[in-house]
Amino acid sequence: PVLRTLVVTIVPFSEDMRLLLSEDITQGQRVEAMRRDFVANVSHEMRTPLTVVSGFLETVIDGLDDLAKEDIRHYLGLASEQAGRMQQLIQDLLTLSALETGAPMWQEEPVDVAKLVHDVEREAIVVSGGRHRIELDCSVSAPLLGNAKELHSAFANLAINAVRYTPEGGHIRISWRQRGTVVEYTVEDDGIGIAADHIPRLTERFYRVDRGRSRETGGTGLGLAIVKHVLSRHQGDLLIDSEPGRGSRFTACFPARRLVS
Ligand code: ADP
Repeated sequence: PVLRTLVVTIVPFSEDMRLLLSEDITQGQRVEAMRRDFVANVSHEMRTPLTVVSGFLETVIDGLDDLAKEDIRHYLGLASEQAGRMQQLIQDLLTLSALETGAPMWQEEPVDVAKLVHDVEREAIVVSGGRHRIELDCSVSAPLLGNAKELHSAFANLAINAVRYTPEGGHIRISWRQRGTVVEYTVEDDGIGIAADHIPRLTERFYRVDRGRSRETGGTGLGLAIVKHVLSRHQGDLLIDSEPGRGSRFTACFPARRLVS
């Protein structure tokens, strides 16, 4: 009865209220569409490696009597690689969901970013396997207020993307510098670059410029979505400059007042 009185009084007399109600519905529909998209994406991303795993396992089972030991090892190795992809996807989904639940669960602490960027450089060198020239320019020694684990995951994501999207022989430069009231972590590469129309969508979950290439290099399509959340929890912003065929520059900027002097 209460609801009925409400509807009867509001709808005919107030245009504003009607607008409000219809906005609410479209917002609800949008959320529902996003949820459907998300479930479809996750299912698709999981199904691809799973199909490969079952394919290889079946090959091994069927050929157990005839296959040479090294063939069996080869097929099982490929299956295990795909299982690793699924693990990474689940790990990224859990990270993203923890980041999206809102308020950070950590207390701000001074993070030694100078050490962190040195660690990230070393990780990039390992992933590159000597196929790129990787340089580090670190000129800020004051710690930054925040969370070391989250910052490490965001900074490593950007550096490893540079390795993955830069052909052999390319050059990658990582830097941690202050510019007036802003402190910046930058990763520049002279890799494949990104066309302007893709740039605004790169931080969407599962958005990739080239699905095939991202998969080949072990991407989940969630990396930049994670980076964006981590930065916003640190009052940071992500700037992306890129040109196809010339390379990309990803900059994470933070207010310099977050530095602990
Ligand atoms: P992925 O796991 O696919 O790399 P990300 O969210 O990290 O997912 O990145 C989204 C997309 O942005 C990638 O699929 C790729 O197309 C593009 N991208 C990211 N970093 C670079 C880069 N340094 N150079 C070129 N393209 C990049």
